[in-house]
Amino acid sequence: SKAEGRCRFHFFEPALQASAEARRLLEFDLRAALALGQFELFYQPQLDLASDRLAGFEALIRWRHPVRGLVPPDSFIPLAEELGLIIRIGEWVVREACAEAARWPDGLCVAVNVAAAQFTSGTLISAVTGALLRSGLPSRRLELEVTETALLHDDGGMTLEQLQALKDLGVQVSLDDFGTGYSSLTQLRSFPFDRVKIDRSFADDPAVVRAVAALGNSLGMRITAEGVETDEQMQRLRDDGCTEAQGYLLSRPVPAGEVATLIERLGLL
Ligand code: C2E
Ligand code: CA
Ligand code: CA
Ligand code: CA
Repeated sequence: SKAEGRCRFHFFEPALQASAEARRLLEFDLRAALALGQFELFYQPQLDLASDRLAGFEALIRWRHPVRGLVPPDSFIPLAEELGLIIRIGEWVVREACAEAARWPDGLCVAVNVAAAQFTSGTLISAVTGALLRSGLPSRRLELEVTETALLHDDGGMTLEQLQALKDLGVQVSLDDFGTGYSSLTQLRSFPFDRVKIDRSFADDPAVVRAVAALGNSLGMRITAEGVETDEQMQRLRDDGCTEAQGYLLSRPVPAGEVATLIERLGLL
């Protein structure tokens, strides 16, 4: 009814204003966060299923906000992309991840998430090269994870060109969140990926995991199952054609300072 409509209007209007205000505050804080050193990387282990040994870690950003506490990436990465801040944040991420990984036992890889905008910025290759040089990390121990969104906006083949340039450097590239976007099959074939990461929404769908793994394997790619939370899921993965596993079952993402302990715990699995 009309009365209800008015009621709703009065109810929602302040909430809308509050969220615009909250957004302005968030934007203000986010613009300062890099200079204030408020970003941190957490690391989540990836298990090699053939050897049952640790393969490496995925670096996942967090924002240690003085008032809000530890802010997860989904709460600020989209805004950072919108504001164009993701370029400089992304450069910090790759530098920090390489510096950290250079201190791990040889052979352990670090995987870094790269946003679509980083491909169109034109500075990705030099940022990666700089991070490798500065840290001394061998390029084969760095992996970059890209989602389908980055590939969908591949105007003029620029993304493909840069993926190829990264591969020429010896860096590995993987397709993240596979299955959550669309035209995935075309992209799997047209881009030179070393790895496909099957989105965690398929962790309980062995038919999909098997199909994707078979396809990826036939294209010579490695296959990571994401979001592995149970023993039951873990036990199926090798038979289903996956080569690596990542998920809470092994460990949640941990701060850099806890990586050494985790390596000790998982290294001899
Ligand atoms: P993603 O790249 O798909 O990363 C995996 C996410 O799943 C992480 O969330 C991780 O904590 C979570 N996860 C891992 N294992 C499990 C599990 O067993 N169960 C469940 N339910 N979740 C699991 P997180 O750290 O909150 O990151 C969310 C997303 O934020 C990432 O998804 C990635 O898209 C983005 N992100 C994180 N770090 C960066 C970064 O440095 N740069 C960019 N551009 N994006 C980032
Ligand atoms: Ca990822
Ligand atoms: Ca993912
Ligand atoms: Ca994701």
